[in-house]
Amino acid sequence: MKAEIIAIGSELVSGQSLDTNSQWLSRELSTLGIPVHFHTTLGDDLDENVAAFRIAIARADLILVSGGLGPTQDDLTREALALVAGVPLVEKAEALEAITAMFARRSRPMAERNRVQALFPVGAEMVPNRVGTAPGIWMKVANAVVTCLPGVPSELRTMYEEQVRPRLNQFATSGRVILHHKINLFGKGESDVEAAALDLTARGRIPEVGITAHDATISFRISAEGATEEEARLAMEPTLTLIRERFIELIVGEGTGDVAEALLAQLVRTGSTLATAESCTGGLVAQMITAQPGVSDYFPGGVVSYANQAKQELLGVPASLLTTYGAVSAEVAEAMAIGVRERFHATLGLSVTGVAGPTGGTPEKPVGLVFLGLATPDGRVQTRRLEIGPEQPREIIQRRSAKHVLNWARLALLAL
Ligand code: ATP
Ligand code: MG
Repeated sequence: MKAEIIAIGSELVSGQSLDTNSQWLSRELSTLGIPVHFHTTLGDDLDENVAAFRIAIARADLILVSGGLGPTQDDLTREALALVAGVPLVEKAEALEAITAMFARRSRPMAERNRVQALFPVGAEMVPNRVGTAPGIWMKVANAVVTCLPGVPSELRTMYEEQVRPRLNQFATSGRVILHHKINLFGKGESDVEAAALDLTARGRIPEVGITAHDATISFRISAEGATEEEARLAMEPTLTLIRERFIELIVGEGTGDVAEALLAQLVRTGSTLATAESCTGGLVAQMITAQPGVSDYFPGGVVSYANQAKQELLGVPASLLTTYGAVSAEVAEAMAIGVRERFHATLGLSVTGVAGPTGGTPEKPVGLVFLGLATPDGRVQTRRLEIGPEQPREIIQRRSAKHVLNWARLALLAL
């Protein structure tokens, strides 16, 4: 049993967009125990599509195709598949009805060119698309099953989950089920975490544990296999418990969970609210908070006070502090945190002020120097000084500062 994923789109091979669909689909197939042996990425070119399909059909049993199902001239998946199967393309009544109904639901007239999306190679089945106009295709060609889905990631995922995955059981039975899980840590460097996990990451250990870092969040990736999902889960469990116990104070989430999600959980648990005053992060802290659904009762708002005047007028930072210590200082971070906490009547006030670079650093205040402030209800305010490093790009300095201040708030709440 071998599967292949073909991602079609000139924007993918030219480097304008990253092919995330292949990664996502591979992970999904691996949870069913279907091993993916090949990823093929190619542009919107008919001959090349035909060639890629021929190769895939000869070497794989299951082929998932992403993209090229749109109504425009460069959408060639239908045509390529028909050529490879050696059958004509014909209009499928069921598909035309589905497309017409989709436009009717959106109260939009259907353009004539959308009609091509109802063309199917003879012998192909339609995979309904509840979230977009392009129906997918399911077709047996020679000894392989080919299924084509739209390239838009949200459509591809919904259709895979609702329509394709339930049909893959016939392939799943032969393989082993592989489960993946992620545990995310924040607050220590990758090498420190690794040093404390050498027994876990040893080569050949079962289940396998790897460490990756992204935006200063360190993740343990655990992969376990078994004959069934249940067996794989049982094989994974002791390792998860070990990691959860050993790194308890650093864990901010599992799966996609990160610092902001963990902070929201603490805001909810303690019934606290939080307001943000940002300079060098330009609203990123507020963005990370509001990316969490359900945050409205806990985040009254924030201020992006980039200029000194804004820090004075919107947050009440005294002019004397700005002139004596400069905007990037513990004193100003303190005043920003106090100011924003009062103005939004919040339990906690957070602030960030720093030199994001790449220019503007001085010997006393180099690029990457950031001050954070945390004002608490007892009238106290604390500050922290981060030195992220002048060699770091602006975006990294901003993202690390933002995550750091969110994690600080989380830890403060955890102690309540
Ligand atoms: P459809 O079959 O839905 O028409 P398409 O490939 O014809 O798919 P495009 O208009 O080319 O549609 O792409 C739609 C969006 O989906 C674009 O933003 C594109 O970058 C994105 N996309 C296409 N393929 C992938 C992929 N493999 N991974 C991530 N994004 C993708
Ligand atoms: Mg495309």
